Amino acid sequence: PTVEVTRADLSEVLHRSAHTEADFLFDDTVTALDQDEGGVDVTFRRSSPRRFDLVVGADGMHSTVRRLVFGPERQFAGDLGLYGATVPLEPDAIEDPTEMTMLTVPNRMLVLHPSRTTPLAIFTFRAAQSAPHDRKNIALHKQTVADAYADVRWRAPELVAAFLDHPAPFFDPLTTVRVPSWSRGRVVLLGDAAAATALLGDGSSMAMAGAYALAEELAAHPVDHTRAFAAYESRLRREVGPRQRRVGPLSRFMVPRTRPGLTVRNAVGRAVGRTNRTASREAANR
Ligand SMILES: Cc1cc2nc3c(=O)[nH]c(=O)nc-3n(C[C@H](O)[C@H](O)[C@H](O)COP(=O)(O)OP(=O)(O)OC[C@H]3O[C@@H](n4cnc5c(N)ncnc54)[C@H](O)[C@@H]3O)c2cc1C
Repeated sequence: PTVEVTRADLSEVLHRSAHTEADFLFDDTVTALDQDEGGVDVTFRRSSPRRFDLVVGADGMHSTVRRLVFGPERQFAGDLGLYGATVPLEPDAIEDPTEMTMLTVPNRMLVLHPSRTTPLAIFTFRAAQSAPHDRKNIALHKQTVADAYADVRWRAPELVAAFLDHPAPFFDPLTTVRVPSWSRGRVVLLGDAAAATALLGDGSSMAMAGAYALAEELAAHPVDHTRAFAAYESRLRREVGPRQRRVGPLSRFMVPRTRPGLTVRNAVGRAVGRTNRTASREAANR
Protein backbone atom coordinates (compact mmCIF):
# COMPACT_ATOMS: atom_id res chain seq x y z
CA PRO A 1 0.00 0.00 0.00
CA THR A 2 1.02 3.61 -0.57
CA VAL A 3 1.78 5.64 2.54
CA GLU A 4 1.62 9.41 2.16
CA VAL A 5 3.06 11.91 4.62
CA THR A 6 2.09 15.54 4.12
CA ARG A 7 4.88 18.05 3.66
CA ALA A 8 3.71 20.00 6.75
CA ASP A 9 3.81 16.86 8.94
CA LEU A 10 7.28 15.95 7.67
CA SER A 11 8.57 19.49 8.35
CA GLU A 12 7.16 19.34 11.87
CA VAL A 13 8.80 15.98 12.60
CA LEU A 14 12.16 17.24 11.29
CA HIS A 15 11.93 20.47 13.26
CA ARG A 16 10.98 18.66 16.47
CA SER A 17 13.94 16.27 16.09
CA ALA A 18 16.51 18.96 15.27
CA HIS A 19 15.57 22.06 17.26
CA THR A 20 17.72 21.19 20.28
CA GLU A 21 20.79 20.67 18.07
CA ALA A 22 20.43 23.51 15.56
CA ASP A 23 19.51 27.20 15.50
CA PHE A 24 16.47 27.96 13.36
CA LEU A 25 16.08 31.46 11.92
CA PHE A 26 12.56 31.92 10.57
CA ASP A 27 11.31 34.63 8.25
CA ASP A 28 14.77 35.41 6.92
CA THR A 29 16.88 34.71 3.85
CA VAL A 30 20.49 34.60 2.76
CA THR A 31 21.52 37.61 0.68
CA ALA A 32 25.26 36.97 0.19
CA LEU A 33 27.74 34.11 0.60
CA ASP A 34 31.45 34.75 0.60
CA GLN A 35 33.77 31.79 1.08
CA ASP A 36 37.50 31.43 1.67
CA GLU A 37 39.83 28.58 2.71
CA GLY A 38 38.50 28.44 6.27
CA GLY A 39 34.75 29.07 6.08
CA VAL A 40 31.77 30.86 4.57
CA ASP A 41 30.63 34.36 5.57
CA VAL A 42 26.85 34.49 5.29
CA THR A 43 24.83 37.69 5.15
CA PHE A 44 21.11 37.54 6.00
CA ARG A 45 18.33 39.98 5.17
CA ARG A 46 17.34 40.45 8.85
CA SER A 47 19.76 38.58 11.15
CA SER A 48 23.36 39.56 11.83
CA PRO A 49 26.03 38.12 9.51
CA ARG A 50 27.58 34.81 10.63
CA ARG A 51 30.48 32.60 9.62
CA PHE A 52 29.97 28.84 9.03
CA ASP A 53 32.30 25.93 8.25
CA LEU A 54 29.97 24.68 5.50
CA VAL A 55 26.72 25.80 3.86
CA VAL A 56 24.06 23.35 2.62
CA GLY A 57 21.64 24.88 0.13
CA ALA A 58 18.44 22.92 0.83
CA ASP A 59 16.20 25.79 -0.25
CA GLY A 60 14.21 24.09 -2.96
CA MET A 61 13.57 24.38 -6.67
CA HIS A 62 14.14 28.16 -6.81
CA SER A 63 17.19 28.02 -4.52
CA THR A 64 18.78 31.32 -3.52
CA VAL A 65 21.99 29.58 -2.39
CA ARG A 66 22.29 28.04 -5.87
CA ARG A 67 21.74 31.43 -7.55
CA LEU A 68 24.32 33.15 -5.34
CA VAL A 69 27.04 30.51 -5.68
CA PHE A 70 26.37 28.50 -8.87
CA GLY A 71 24.56 30.92 -11.18
CA PRO A 72 21.07 31.94 -12.37
CA GLU A 73 18.22 29.42 -12.32
CA ARG A 74 17.81 29.40 -16.11
CA GLN A 75 21.19 27.63 -16.42
CA PHE A 76 19.86 24.60 -14.55
CA ALA A 77 16.07 24.46 -15.03
CA GLY A 78 14.57 22.30 -17.78
CA ASP A 79 10.98 23.03 -18.80
CA LEU A 80 8.67 20.01 -19.16
CA GLY A 81 6.05 22.08 -20.97
CA LEU A 82 3.56 21.48 -18.15
CA TYR A 83 2.21 23.60 -15.33
CA GLY A 84 1.23 22.50 -11.83
CA ALA A 85 -1.31 24.39 -9.72
CA THR A 86 -3.03 23.50 -6.46
CA VAL A 87 -5.64 24.96 -4.16
CA PRO A 88 -6.82 23.76 -0.72
CA LEU A 89 -10.55 22.98 -0.46
CA GLU A 90 -13.18 22.85 2.25
CA PRO A 91 -13.35 19.44 4.05
CA ASP A 92 -16.76 18.68 2.54
CA ALA A 93 -15.38 19.04 -1.02
CA ILE A 94 -14.73 15.29 -1.15
CA GLU A 95 -17.06 12.39 -0.56
CA ASP A 96 -14.57 9.64 0.29
CA PRO A 97 -11.54 10.72 2.37
CA THR A 98 -9.67 7.53 1.42
CA GLU A 99 -9.92 7.92 -2.33
CA MET A 100 -8.23 10.16 -4.89
CA THR A 101 -10.36 11.03 -7.92
CA MET A 102 -8.92 12.24 -11.20
CA LEU A 103 -10.16 13.41 -14.56
CA THR A 104 -7.88 13.55 -17.58
CA VAL A 105 -8.72 15.03 -20.97
CA PRO A 106 -6.05 15.67 -23.62
CA ASN A 107 -3.40 18.02 -22.20
CA ARG A 108 -5.11 18.45 -18.84
CA MET A 109 -5.40 16.48 -15.64
CA LEU A 110 -7.46 17.42 -12.60
CA VAL A 111 -7.00 15.53 -9.33
CA LEU A 112 -9.14 15.74 -6.23
CA HIS A 113 -6.85 14.58 -3.43
CA PRO A 114 -8.25 13.93 0.07
CA SER A 115 -4.89 14.70 1.75
CA ARG A 116 -4.92 14.20 5.54
CA THR A 117 -6.86 17.18 6.79
CA THR A 118 -7.38 19.56 3.89
CA PRO A 119 -8.51 18.22 0.50
CA LEU A 120 -6.60 19.57 -2.45
CA ALA A 121 -7.44 20.22 -6.10
CA ILE A 122 -4.39 19.61 -8.30
CA PHE A 123 -4.31 20.96 -11.85
CA THR A 124 -1.57 19.59 -14.13
CA PHE A 125 -1.75 20.83 -17.68
CA ARG A 126 -0.09 21.88 -20.90
CA ALA A 127 -1.07 25.51 -21.63
CA ALA A 128 -2.18 26.43 -25.15
CA GLN A 129 0.69 28.89 -25.38
CA SER A 130 3.47 29.15 -22.87
CA ALA A 131 3.67 32.67 -21.55
CA PRO A 132 6.92 33.92 -20.00
CA HIS A 133 6.52 32.84 -16.38
CA ASP A 134 6.29 35.48 -13.68
CA ARG A 135 6.23 33.81 -10.25
CA LYS A 136 4.68 36.85 -8.57
CA ASN A 137 1.87 37.47 -11.08
CA ILE A 138 -1.04 35.71 -9.32
CA ALA A 139 -3.62 37.24 -11.68
CA LEU A 140 -1.80 35.66 -14.65
CA HIS A 141 -1.65 32.27 -12.86
CA LYS A 142 -5.40 32.40 -12.23
CA GLN A 143 -6.15 33.38 -15.82
CA THR A 144 -3.90 30.58 -17.13
CA VAL A 145 -5.74 27.94 -15.07
CA ALA A 146 -9.18 29.35 -15.94
CA ASP A 147 -8.34 29.35 -19.69
CA ALA A 148 -6.85 25.86 -19.60
CA TYR A 149 -9.92 24.28 -17.93
CA ALA A 150 -12.64 26.44 -19.53
CA ASP A 151 -14.13 23.54 -21.53
CA VAL A 152 -13.60 20.79 -18.94
CA ARG A 153 -16.71 19.50 -17.19
CA TRP A 154 -17.05 17.16 -14.15
CA ARG A 155 -16.18 19.33 -11.11
CA ALA A 156 -13.77 21.58 -13.01
CA PRO A 157 -15.95 24.75 -12.91
CA GLU A 158 -16.28 24.56 -9.11
CA LEU A 159 -12.59 23.72 -8.55
CA VAL A 160 -11.41 26.46 -10.90
CA ALA A 161 -13.69 28.87 -8.99
CA ALA A 162 -11.98 27.79 -5.73
CA PHE A 163 -8.60 28.47 -7.38
CA LEU A 164 -9.74 31.93 -8.51
CA ASP A 165 -11.10 32.74 -5.03
CA HIS A 166 -7.91 31.81 -3.17
CA PRO A 167 -5.61 34.77 -2.38
CA ALA A 168 -2.36 32.93 -3.21
CA PRO A 169 -2.85 29.51 -4.80
CA PHE A 170 0.23 27.45 -5.72
CA PHE A 171 1.28 27.73 -9.39
CA ASP A 172 4.58 26.81 -11.03
CA PRO A 173 5.82 25.43 -14.35
CA LEU A 174 6.96 21.82 -13.93
CA THR A 175 10.71 21.90 -14.31
CA THR A 176 13.64 19.64 -13.69
CA VAL A 177 16.84 20.95 -12.14
CA ARG A 178 20.18 19.59 -13.34
CA VAL A 179 23.33 21.08 -11.81
CA PRO A 180 26.60 19.69 -13.28
CA SER A 181 28.36 19.65 -9.89
CA TRP A 182 26.49 19.90 -6.59
CA SER A 183 29.26 21.55 -4.59
CA ARG A 184 31.52 24.52 -4.95
CA GLY A 185 34.13 24.85 -2.23
CA ARG A 186 32.36 24.79 1.11
CA VAL A 187 28.85 25.12 -0.31
CA VAL A 188 26.80 22.07 -1.30
CA LEU A 189 23.29 21.70 -2.75
CA LEU A 190 20.68 19.23 -1.52
CA GLY A 191 17.19 18.13 -2.61
CA ASP A 192 15.34 20.08 -5.30
CA ALA A 193 18.05 22.76 -5.28
CA ALA A 194 20.50 20.16 -6.66
CA ALA A 195 18.32 17.85 -8.71
CA ALA A 196 14.57 18.35 -8.93
CA THR A 197 12.50 15.72 -10.67
CA ALA A 198 9.38 17.93 -10.87
CA LEU A 199 6.25 16.82 -9.09
CA LEU A 200 6.06 13.63 -11.11
CA GLY A 201 9.10 12.12 -9.36
CA ASP A 202 9.98 11.19 -5.79
CA GLY A 203 11.29 14.65 -4.84
CA SER A 204 10.67 14.40 -1.10
CA SER A 205 12.15 10.91 -0.84
CA MET A 206 15.22 12.03 -2.80
CA ALA A 207 15.62 15.11 -0.57
CA MET A 208 15.45 12.96 2.58
CA ALA A 209 17.78 10.30 1.15
CA GLY A 210 20.18 13.07 0.13
CA ALA A 211 20.20 14.62 3.61
CA TYR A 212 20.90 11.20 5.11
CA ALA A 213 23.73 10.42 2.67
CA LEU A 214 25.29 13.87 3.15
CA ALA A 215 25.20 13.51 6.96
CA GLU A 216 26.74 10.04 6.73
CA GLU A 217 29.54 11.18 4.42
CA LEU A 218 30.34 14.23 6.56
CA ALA A 219 30.53 11.95 9.61
CA ALA A 220 32.79 9.55 7.69
CA HIS A 221 35.11 12.36 6.49
CA PRO A 222 34.95 14.92 9.32
CA VAL A 223 38.04 16.88 8.25
CA ASP A 224 37.67 16.53 4.48
CA HIS A 225 34.45 18.12 3.27
CA THR A 226 35.60 17.90 -0.38
CA ARG A 227 35.71 14.11 -0.13
CA ALA A 228 32.44 13.99 1.80
CA PHE A 229 30.64 16.16 -0.81
CA ALA A 230 32.01 14.04 -3.69
CA ALA A 231 30.95 10.77 -2.01
CA TYR A 232 27.48 12.17 -1.24
CA GLU A 233 27.00 13.37 -4.82
CA SER A 234 28.11 10.10 -6.36
CA ARG A 235 25.76 8.09 -4.08
CA LEU A 236 22.76 10.29 -4.79
CA ARG A 237 23.30 10.63 -8.53
CA ARG A 238 22.82 6.88 -8.82
CA GLU A 239 19.29 7.35 -7.42
CA VAL A 240 18.39 10.68 -8.98
CA GLY A 241 19.79 10.12 -12.50
CA PRO A 242 17.35 7.38 -13.59
CA ARG A 243 14.42 9.32 -12.10
CA GLN A 244 15.38 12.47 -13.99
CA ARG A 245 15.62 10.51 -17.24
CA ARG A 246 12.11 9.12 -16.64
CA VAL A 247 10.43 12.46 -15.89
CA GLY A 248 10.11 13.65 -19.53
CA PRO A 249 8.53 10.43 -20.90
CA LEU A 250 6.46 10.03 -17.71
CA SER A 251 5.03 13.54 -17.97
CA ARG A 252 4.00 12.91 -21.60
CA PHE A 253 2.43 9.60 -20.53
CA MET A 254 0.61 11.05 -17.50
CA VAL A 255 -0.80 14.06 -19.36
CA PRO A 256 -1.29 12.75 -22.92
CA ARG A 257 -1.87 15.11 -25.81
CA THR A 258 -4.41 12.87 -27.56
CA ARG A 259 -7.40 10.60 -26.83
CA PRO A 260 -5.59 7.41 -27.96
CA GLY A 261 -2.73 8.36 -25.59
CA LEU A 262 -5.31 8.77 -22.85
CA THR A 263 -6.84 5.35 -23.54
CA VAL A 264 -3.41 3.71 -23.21
CA ARG A 265 -2.66 5.62 -20.01
CA ASN A 266 -5.96 4.67 -18.41
CA ALA A 267 -5.51 0.99 -19.31
CA VAL A 268 -2.01 0.96 -17.78
CA GLY A 269 -3.30 2.94 -14.78
CA ARG A 270 -6.07 0.37 -14.16
CA ALA A 271 -3.58 -2.52 -14.38
CA VAL A 272 -1.12 -0.82 -12.00
CA GLY A 273 -3.98 0.20 -9.70
CA ARG A 274 -5.09 -3.44 -9.47
CA THR A 275 -1.55 -4.52 -8.55
CA ASN A 276 -0.89 -1.70 -6.09
CA ARG A 277 -4.44 -1.38 -4.79
CA THR A 278 -4.02 2.36 -5.31
CA ALA A 279 -7.07 4.16 -3.95
CA SER A 280 -7.77 6.24 -7.03
CA ARG A 281 -10.68 6.53 -9.42
CA GLU A 282 -10.94 8.03 -12.92
CA ALA A 283 -13.91 10.38 -13.27
CA ALA A 284 -15.97 10.97 -16.44
CA ASN A 285 -15.92 14.37 -18.15
CA ARG A 286 -19.60 15.22 -17.78
C1 LIG B 1 2.19 20.30 -5.91
C2 LIG B 1 3.36 19.42 -5.59
C3 LIG B 1 3.15 18.09 -5.27
C4 LIG B 1 4.23 17.25 -4.97
N1 LIG B 1 3.97 15.96 -4.65
C5 LIG B 1 4.99 15.16 -4.31
C6 LIG B 1 4.75 13.82 -3.91
O1 LIG B 1 3.61 13.36 -3.87
N2 LIG B 1 5.82 13.06 -3.57
C7 LIG B 1 7.10 13.53 -3.59
O2 LIG B 1 8.03 12.81 -3.22
N3 LIG B 1 7.35 14.80 -3.97
C8 LIG B 1 6.34 15.62 -4.33
N4 LIG B 1 6.59 16.90 -4.72
C9 LIG B 1 7.98 17.36 -4.79
C10 LIG B 1 8.48 17.69 -3.40
O3 LIG B 1 7.62 18.63 -2.77
C11 LIG B 1 9.89 18.27 -3.48
O4 LIG B 1 10.69 17.47 -4.33
C12 LIG B 1 10.51 18.31 -2.09
O5 LIG B 1 9.73 19.14 -1.25
C13 LIG B 1 11.94 18.84 -2.18
O6 LIG B 1 12.41 19.04 -0.89
P1 LIG B 1 13.48 20.18 -0.61
O7 LIG B 1 13.72 20.13 0.87
O8 LIG B 1 14.62 20.05 -1.53
O9 LIG B 1 12.77 21.54 -1.00
P2 LIG B 1 11.42 22.22 -0.40
O10 LIG B 1 10.50 21.20 0.16
O11 LIG B 1 10.96 23.10 -1.49
O12 LIG B 1 11.98 23.04 0.81
C14 LIG B 1 12.76 24.19 0.64
C15 LIG B 1 12.58 25.06 1.86
O13 LIG B 1 13.46 26.18 1.76
C16 LIG B 1 12.75 27.35 2.06
N5 LIG B 1 13.38 28.44 1.30
C17 LIG B 1 13.35 28.64 -0.03
N6 LIG B 1 14.06 29.72 -0.34
C18 LIG B 1 14.55 30.21 0.82
C19 LIG B 1 15.37 31.32 1.14
N7 LIG B 1 15.82 32.14 0.20
N8 LIG B 1 15.68 31.53 2.43
C20 LIG B 1 15.23 30.69 3.39
N9 LIG B 1 14.46 29.62 3.15
C21 LIG B 1 14.13 29.39 1.87
C22 LIG B 1 11.32 27.08 1.62
O14 LIG B 1 10.43 27.92 2.31
C23 LIG B 1 11.16 25.62 2.01
O15 LIG B 1 10.77 25.50 3.34
C24 LIG B 1 5.54 17.75 -5.02
C25 LIG B 1 5.77 19.09 -5.35
C26 LIG B 1 4.69 19.92 -5.63
C27 LIG B 1 4.95 21.35 -5.98
